[in-house]
Amino acid sequence: MGLIGLILRNMEASLTARDRVGIQDFVLLDNYTSESAFLDNLRKRSHENLIYTYIGTLLVSVNPYKELDIYSKKQMDTYMGVNFFELPPHIYALADNVFRTMQSEYNNHFILISGESGAGKTEASKKILQFYAVSCPSTKLLNNVRDRLLLSNPVLEAFGNAKTLKNDNSSRFGKYMDIQFDHQGGAVGGHILSYLLEKSRVVHQNHGERNFHIFYQLVEGGEEDLLRWLGLERNCQHYRYLVQGDCAKVSSINDKSDWKMVRKALSVIEFSESDIENLFAIIASVLHLGNVKFEADVRGYASLNNNQEMHWLLGIPTQVLQQGLTHRKIEAKTEEVLSPFSVDHAVYARDALAKAIYGRTFNWLVNKINESLANKDSSRKTVIGLLDIYGFEVFNVNSFEQFCINYCNEKLQQLFIQLTLKSEQEEYEMEGIEWEPVPYFNNKIICDLVEEKHRGIIALLDEECLRPGEATDLTLLEKMEEEIGGHPHFVTHKLADKKTRKTLERGDFRLLHYAGEVTYCVVGFLDKNNDLLYRNGKEVISFNFYCKKQVVTQFKSSLVGLTEILMSKEPWYVRCIKPNEAKQPGRFDDVLVRHQVKYLGLMEHLRVRRAGFAYRRKYDIFLQRYKPLCPDTWPNWRGTAAEGVQRLIKHLGYKPDEYKMGRTKIFIRHPRTLFATEDAFQI
Ligand code: ATP
Ligand code: MG
Repeated sequence: MGLIGLILRNMEASLTARDRVGIQDFVLLDNYTSESAFLDNLRKRSHENLIYTYIGTLLVSVNPYKELDIYSKKQMDTYMGVNFFELPPHIYALADNVFRTMQSEYNNHFILISGESGAGKTEASKKILQFYAVSCPSTKLLNNVRDRLLLSNPVLEAFGNAKTLKNDNSSRFGKYMDIQFDHQGGAVGGHILSYLLEKSRVVHQNHGERNFHIFYQLVEGGEEDLLRWLGLERNCQHYRYLVQGDCAKVSSINDKSDWKMVRKALSVIEFSESDIENLFAIIASVLHLGNVKFEADVRGYASLNNNQEMHWLLGIPTQVLQQGLTHRKIEAKTEEVLSPFSVDHAVYARDALAKAIYGRTFNWLVNKINESLANKDSSRKTVIGLLDIYGFEVFNVNSFEQFCINYCNEKLQQLFIQLTLKSEQEEYEMEGIEWEPVPYFNNKIICDLVEEKHRGIIALLDEECLRPGEATDLTLLEKMEEEIGGHPHFVTHKLADKKTRKTLERGDFRLLHYAGEVTYCVVGFLDKNNDLLYRNGKEVISFNFYCKKQVVTQFKSSLVGLTEILMSKEPWYVRCIKPNEAKQPGRFDDVLVRHQVKYLGLMEHLRVRRAGFAYRRKYDIFLQRYKPLCPDTWPNWRGTAAEGVQRLIKHLGYKPDEYKMGRTKIFIRHPRTLFATEDAFQI
């Protein structure tokens, strides 16, 4: 059966089954402007365990919250090398399509996976990676690279993921991973960029949440000898840093078997035994550090008595550490003076040290993985980038971390708008194609509110951080009220109308994000942005960077860097949807899903797709490819390429509503038109 036959058969089958299983591409939805129709389709499909649906080439994925039998090797084989629209929607179809486009056009691509916390982004990125690992041509040498690429995941998840209220395996860092392919399509290397790890989790977890997985894995799964060597007890309850959330044990997580996996993965990624020993000595040190207790001496200053824990710490001379934790070094005119800490201050310094150690260790880990994935061969490679970054997050209490995470999501939404909605419409305009513009909400206004030079929230925050001793979280709030008080996406208790005021505390500010309102508690903003480590704390772990930039500014520049990386590549999208808050299979909460459909911009995307044209080709390229199909254009056409294309499609019998002629390109409405032309070519 020809391609067209197959497509028609698929369409027919989908027509009869339509009532039950819905439509597999929203572009074919009759009532495509209706949000309810969109939702009905999604609900029907997810009840039938059909978790994937297309909007053109964008893939919508609904988290099934249960294992589905759709990721086998057999399924991968089914999707390999098959035309995108011929089989039911699948993440493998998308992965395969990206791969083949890269191969044929020899250019770079990225897949942006978005959705809120718990929607399934990390799972989706793993499925894509697994597909490439299995489907790409391989040799023994490449198998090594493949294994390392795959096993970098459990390692980074162990150190960078944690149980939150939203997700038992929530990514607490952003991750962008390049997979590099050689000329034959073999995966030959990779590179990972990580973004803003949520270090505060090391020392503090909210109720119902955990620290990073690796701590529990080590304590639960670590071998007897190892624990003895590290001075650890096999009891999470013993460690202050592990019990604040009061949920060290989670039924969906098996720390013991995860430990084995991580140990194996570290060896495959070529961590030496001494690297591994050092790594766990550091992790254990953080746990010991958390248990260091201070007492007030007669003058009320912090002192360290009888602290068993000190013996196990980092191999640093006890004297140095002791001083580092209880005193601050101040530079006087000609000498350094030691000023003693109060107990509270000492606790703060201890926690700051723990966070700094963990953060540095995480960066070291990413660097080590990158060394092992690096491809030293200088021949040209093409790249598929996978972006799996923390999703939009709203908790009961939202702090600096949520502010950064949600800002990042605003930036990615802005990129999506620029690359799809805006660029698509601009292209029609440029090409002179008649076009009914599709309205959409442009979140640039919120990005500006956060990042604008001099008066954006980030600038104000940094400014306050430069006034130590004078500025506090509350002066930051006042400054924001002064500078951006009139902004339509910003409100505080003082600025709010009577009704809204009831929903805000005095120390809160609320941002109207593109994805919804989030109320942030300003307490801790300055401190977390400064990420202060007292000078002798720095000496303890021997690193010095006094002039370092504030956290949020570093983050902002890393996001600018990321945007540049992405803008230079062809985009593909996976939009993940979370069907319910209870993490349960079979439950589809209409209100929750409707909200996500709205803020993920799916309706606008559908409208643009539907009103638009699935394919476009430059006239000369189109003519070059299909000219053998028409006696007038074959073997040579002497007129302009546009005229040649006109002649060609007349011969092929294109109907007027199937295409439009732009200034430099032909626009084809449905993929089936192009498929038919391709089929004619085969005959
Ligand atoms: P975060 O932003 O918090 O990192 P996320 O979008 O990365 O969230 P995941 O960790 O990918 O969310 O998914 C959360 C959980 O949902 C998974 O641990 C798994 O239990 C389930 N899940 C997600 N996708 C699938 C899938 N395709 N099949 C089965 N279960 C899934
Ligand atoms: Mg994740």
